[in-house]
Amino acid sequence: MIVMKFGGTSVESASAIERVAGIVRARLHQKPVVVVSAMGKTTNRLLEIARTAISGKREDFIRLIHDLRSFHSREARLVVPLSERADLDRTLDELFQELTELIKGLAIVGEITPRSIDAVSSYGERLSSYIVTLAFRHHGIAAEHLDSRRVIVTDRKHTHAAPLYPETCRRLAETIPPLADRSVVVMGGFIGATEDGVTSTLGRGGSDFTASLVGAGIGAEQIQIWTDVDGMLTADPGLVPGAHRVKTISFAEAAELAYFGAKVLHPATVVPALEKDIPVLILNSRRPGVEGTRIVAERVPCANAVKSIACKRRITVVNVHSTSMLMAHGFLRRIFEIFDRHETSVDMVATSEVSVSLTIDSTERLAAISAELSEFSDVSVEHAQTIVCLVGDNIRYTPGVAARVFTALGEVNVRMISQGASLLNLSFVVADADVQRAVEALHREFFAELDPAVFEVGG
Ligand code: ADP
Ligand code: ASP
Ligand code: MG
Repeated sequence: MIVMKFGGTSVESASAIERVAGIVRARLHQKPVVVVSAMGKTTNRLLEIARTAISGKREDFIRLIHDLRSFHSREARLVVPLSERADLDRTLDELFQELTELIKGLAIVGEITPRSIDAVSSYGERLSSYIVTLAFRHHGIAAEHLDSRRVIVTDRKHTHAAPLYPETCRRLAETIPPLADRSVVVMGGFIGATEDGVTSTLGRGGSDFTASLVGAGIGAEQIQIWTDVDGMLTADPGLVPGAHRVKTISFAEAAELAYFGAKVLHPATVVPALEKDIPVLILNSRRPGVEGTRIVAERVPCANAVKSIACKRRITVVNVHSTSMLMAHGFLRRIFEIFDRHETSVDMVATSEVSVSLTIDSTERLAAISAELSEFSDVSVEHAQTIVCLVGDNIRYTPGVAARVFTALGEVNVRMISQGASLLNLSFVVADADVQRAVEALHREFFAELDPAVFEVGG
């Protein structure tokens, strides 16, 4: 068995879904289990509907739901045979009626909780997985729909729920292999349910994680992440259009890149795959002939110091300064306890004797954190910052990487710097406004020459 995950752009329209059917049909001998994201930008659209509802704009949310339904209906009708139209319409009616009721409820209450956000955003994958199942059948593929909420069991941390591994694996192993013996199982990514059956989600971009969980649960031979780029590239192609494809990368490097913002892979994806030593492939559904990126357990020898550059944008730097703590122990512990209590994770830390700078992603609890820190220190906050992260396990063996970084960056002001504890990364903070310039310069510096065993020239 293999797991094939198709992201939002890969199922964004009837023609994209047809392409997916072709890709899956060519691999039927490998017994694929297919995980799909919501079609195109559906998740964003659902969240917008919820926001519009609670702000009391009734006509607007009704129109937005109507538009979303028309979009799904139009694309689905193009990939579903006439004989299945009645079924399709009935199911779309049911799902959109349920959604409309839910949204009307939110509009009345005027408030949205993480739990209701999950209920709303789950419709994207529930719709796409159903439509893709019908499309596969239309293309002569025996396909069976599986509601992910029956098998992906999570905790109650709505909007970023964590799977309960033993129970999820047990259900996956029990449910999928018998179905996959006779048909292609199609399920939605991203969504799950708590032990009491309440709909939950694994967080934005979470369908990659679903694919990996399913792969681990059923002991798949391979997990394929089909997306809209040729694989893991040497930089975000939005910043560096000529970024090169990385042919092979280790789990450790891929995890670091994903964590520091390479959106092509959800950061949690590597965990289940690594545990079961299942190779992960990143592939392009628009160019299925390209060999993509292979993520493997072992180190990947490479003549280049850096394999890829990631950035985590819109982060916040918190500077904590305290002369009263000079020479006193326990300063750091006290600081971290505060972030911990407010469930705010810290990505980067730099310290001096009397001050500490930390970066955080979520500013939800920043006011409360600042207030507590101010009890024993001066606090200043800088918004609109970006962590730029160079990843490659050769960084630690290559002298002079930091010097090359600073030379390449020239006039760009660097706020914080840290050589990651994992030894695979070198990270620093620049202002959001400087990211483009910084990444272009670094890409020129570190990828002017490419080890042909690891990279394929892009652009
Ligand atoms: P999907 O909908 O298939 O899950 P995503 O939009 O989540 O796709 O991820 C793919 C996108 O990730 C690419 O289109 C690209 O813009 C972005 N990206 C950011 N960094 C990288 C990188 N280092 N390599 C490849 N893609 C990247
Ligand atoms: N549809 C979800 C999102 O947009 C999950 C995913 O695409 O991976 O975040
Ligand atoms: Mg994604």
